[in-house]
Amino acid sequence: MQKDVQVREVGPRDGLQLVKQFMPTETKIAWIKAEAEAGVVDFEVTSFVPPSVIPQFADARDVATESLKIDGINAMVLVPNLKGAEMAFETGSPKVNGIVSVSKTHNKANVRRTRDDSVEGFRKIVELRNNTPEYANLKVGCGLPTALGCTLEGNVAESEVLKVAEQLLDAGADEIMIPDTVGYASPSQVRSLLKQVIPLCGDIPVVAHFHDTRGLGLANVYAALEAGCTRFDASLAGFGGCPFAPGATGNIVTEDLVFLLEAEGLKTGIDVMALRKAREILTGALPEEAAHGAILKAGLPKGFVPATAQVAAE
Ligand code: ZN
Repeated sequence: MQKDVQVREVGPRDGLQLVKQFMPTETKIAWIKAEAEAGVVDFEVTSFVPPSVIPQFADARDVATESLKIDGINAMVLVPNLKGAEMAFETGSPKVNGIVSVSKTHNKANVRRTRDDSVEGFRKIVELRNNTPEYANLKVGCGLPTALGCTLEGNVAESEVLKVAEQLLDAGADEIMIPDTVGYASPSQVRSLLKQVIPLCGDIPVVAHFHDTRGLGLANVYAALEAGCTRFDASLAGFGGCPFAPGATGNIVTEDLVFLLEAEGLKTGIDVMALRKAREILTGALPEEAAHGAILKAGLPKGFVPATAQVAAE
């Protein structure tokens, strides 16, 4: 099916990174499988950070390997540095996502390097791919944390975001991801930034990644759509959120994002109600964590026909 919009499930990485209780590898895989059955194709399945930093990802290699056995999915992984990329490439991950924070203060706090060093680190990941024949088909994307605001620096200038994006494109990025890491952004801010980033990237895809910390996540999705963005990250049941920020929530809710897009006539290829099974696996495994989202609690409106179902019926 020709999709209008790509919804990427980042819960197994972003949603779990601050969850203290370790989720067994087989549960992570069962969760990913259940979402794949509902039609989700793109997943960020884990992060190759040292387990000493985030114990939840001690099984990164196993999750990455097992995900490769699930039919029809694109199992991406996050890599904080070259070492992580080396491990991910060896595992056979089809796509790795690097990170360079736009906020210099956040970059230092996050990976203990200057922003320029992080850009050079990303360039080395691309070079490793380029110089290794068996990695020729692997993709290397890069996210720009704090592109829409930073808890340490506050506002982040658009000019700085464009500068870092340009450096990463020059380094050979196959994709650029613009996140609102801490949920600061407003729709007009999102529209303004993406209207500049998307043309700058040309043929290189741009992904928007919103957190719903202040309740504007889906409004920001709509603004991003207006700016021409067609790729979105989300987390099942809105998992995630910083334990040190009271009231913080995780990514926008996958189920609600799919409902919004389908209601607007955009085909996602995902059966929103079929996400319930995956949600039950997740909430059953982590009963202490808050599960967000409206559509699976309320149900679809009477007579609602998703855009994806209309195509399926044709
Ligand atoms: Zn995030």
